[in-house]
Amino acid sequence: MTTIAFIGLGNMGLPMARNLLRAGQDLRVFDLVATSVAELASEGATAAQSAADAIQGAQVVISMLPASRHVEGLYLGDSGLFTQLQPGTLVLECSTIAPESARTVHKAAAEHTIRMLDAPVSGGTAGAAAGTLTFMIGGKAEYVEQARSIFELMGKNIFHAGPEGAGQVAKVCNNQVLAVQMIATAEAMAMGVANGLDPAVLAEIMRQSSGGNWTLEKYNPWPGVMENAPASKGYSGGFMAELMAKDLGLAQETAQHFGNSAPMGALALQLYRMLLKQGKGKQDFSVIQQLFIE
Ligand code: NAD
Repeated sequence: MTTIAFIGLGNMGLPMARNLLRAGQDLRVFDLVATSVAELASEGATAAQSAADAIQGAQVVISMLPASRHVEGLYLGDSGLFTQLQPGTLVLECSTIAPESARTVHKAAAEHTIRMLDAPVSGGTAGAAAGTLTFMIGGKAEYVEQARSIFELMGKNIFHAGPEGAGQVAKVCNNQVLAVQMIATAEAMAMGVANGLDPAVLAEIMRQSSGGNWTLEKYNPWPGVMENAPASKGYSGGFMAELMAKDLGLAQETAQHFGNSAPMGALALQLYRMLLKQGKGKQDFSVIQQLFIE
């Protein structure tokens, strides 16, 4: 049994931590939201009062936070966790953050003899709950092997993308594709329904045809088409639109780093920013559907 500190129990972190707990790991959990900590404590985790408290006795630390600034705030600086962790501790940083930020954190980890991997995920909250996430990992191959059995308790596909930061590069590439697909699907659903088609019928035709894609398979943005999709639950839960806008911004930065242009990603970012201006940033990212029907 490994003692694991899990920090960040939001839409993703909570179900990921729960899978570790169910697999019999010794889990110490912390989030700024006390109710999430209490929920896991009632299932057998040890509730920590702070991140520093959570890492006591931990051989492995997993973090699942919103963005770069939260991750840097947790690990770096005089009071950051790297100054407090035992040398050799394995840190699995699963948040989606800027590749540059991940490299900065990797560098600091190495200075403190901490074994770190950037390991963002794909698969959404359903994948987190089912333990079927895809991990895209950047860092040393030997660390990936050392962490593999822990990743396998939360995910199905464990990819070593390359060196430090490579997991984050893979993640922003993937999420740019996801955003573009979601927007294209929402646009087509609105067009078809406005022209008299039944949304469920249209969704099924496209799903089985050359327009088929992940959003049509698992995450249709039209309310009522898929019972368990966020669209059918008032666009609640899932992956917040503001986090998608963050990822699209990271994709633009990543493209520009080597002079690439990413016009589809740029347009997707602009559309998500419009959605945020409408106050919909906390809703699931499939709420982009409403841009096309209101
Ligand atoms: P979320 O906002 O639901 O959860 C983040 C949690 O981190 C919150 O509970 C917050 O209180 C906590 N937190 C923030 N700062 C903290 C700190 N200093 N100490 C302790 N806790 C802190 O976000 P989420 O949807 O769980 O996403 C987490 C990360 O995973 C993001 O980077 C996101 O882009 C990525 N991601 C999300 C999804 C998804 O479908 N939701 C899918 C893949 C990747």
